[in-house]
Amino acid sequence: MALRSDWSRRTCSMARGLDILGDPWTILVLREVFFGNGRFDAIKARLEVADSVLTKRLAGLVESGLLEKKAYDDGGRTRQEYVLTPMGEDALPVLNAVTIWAEKHLPAPSDKAHMYVIHSGCGKRTSSADTCTGCGERLTAANTSWHSQSRSEQPVPLSTAAVRKEAAA
Ligand SMILES: [Zn+2]
Repeated sequence: MALRSDWSRRTCSMARGLDILGDPWTILVLREVFFGNGRFDAIKARLEVADSVLTKRLAGLVESGLLEKKAYDDGGRTRQEYVLTPMGEDALPVLNAVTIWAEKHLPAPSDKAHMYVIHSGCGKRTSSADTCTGCGERLTAANTSWHSQSRSEQPVPLSTAAVRKEAAA
């Protein structure tokens, strides 16, 4: 990603993971794609980010294998949007964990600035990143919603990888 020194060959797997996931813009781009905003202009509007920054992060996420480009028809004109790969979908617990940790430890700037991770299956808010603490089911993008109070009244079901893994582990 060339944002700093290359950690992609570090012996520590946490360092190798952070080489891709350790950048705030990268995580926020993934947040938007999970929310279903895969189009460049939509991501840009949400993140209020410079074109050059967003272009670089999107290219990095495609190169790393977390996102892929998919064509869509925009009123007769073919354009590209970004969708999750199975590898990108697997990053969901990381984003959930950051959100849950922030809700637990960091003050919200207003009463309407909370974000919750919801298991769509039972409707409960979970306090664990990969398992529903309401019912014990494993969380996946297909059964998870995020409720960002500043964004919507209701929880939003997440986007899943364009091509789902066969027989998810
Ligand atoms: Zn549940």
